[in-house]
Amino acid sequence: MARSHAEQEERGPSGDSRRPDRLVLGASGACVSVVGRTLGVMVTISCSCGAAATSRTHPLRGMPIEERMELVRTAYSAYDGFLTLEADASWHPGSSEPDPGCVVLVDMDALDACEGLADDERRGLSALLGIAHVHGRVLPPPVEIGTVRFRVSPSFGFDAEVVYVVHDGPQTLLELTCAYGGRGELASLVALYSEHGPAAVVQVDGLAPRLGLAAAVAGVSRARTPSVA
Ligand SMILES: [Zn+2]
Ligand SMILES: [Zn+2]
Repeated sequence: MARSHAEQEERGPSGDSRRPDRLVLGASGACVSVVGRTLGVMVTISCSCGAAATSRTHPLRGMPIEERMELVRTAYSAYDGFLTLEADASWHPGSSEPDPGCVVLVDMDALDACEGLADDERRGLSALLGIAHVHGRVLPPPVEIGTVRFRVSPSFGFDAEVVYVVHDGPQTLLELTCAYGGRGELASLVALYSEHGPAAVVQVDGLAPRLGLAAAVAGVSRARTPSVA
């Protein structure tokens, strides 16, 4: 099931292409302004069973910077300053009892995650939140070829890790929600488009839910490559 996440589409590209495959602690970056924030903490807690609630407290609250950095580094996902943490059953939202299969996720922004930190600590944690990653694996930045944009971002669902989207202007060539198979996946879509054009990407969109992304790209590429006799 998908969680609501209105701001997902509005987020711009983040980071640059020289980012490491694995996250390192202590990266420096832009400071987050707290001007105009008067409402205090308000995070969203949602569960795979459908229960959801907002909360004025969260698992990072009062934690020292080292522990916060580690939790963010290995988080369920982080994207453009937004953080999703997997929480234990004590954070289960609402009044219902958690099932053994319940997956509890806490969504917050950088201001919530940095609450109570000194400025330099805040800068380091905010920088880490600006690097798109799922389960400690860094996602590659978007790629643009002419009017076509290739992007991978966290899925905001309970049953998958990432969403691949390929847009050509207003037209969607591909949208695929799946497990993350590494940064070579986005590169393979870019290469397929470069060699075989938009129709090949649309074909992968149709085949990938059944075959998986890698097999779909390989199959479409093979089918469209003239064989040499
Ligand atoms: Zn959000
Ligand atoms: Zn639940």
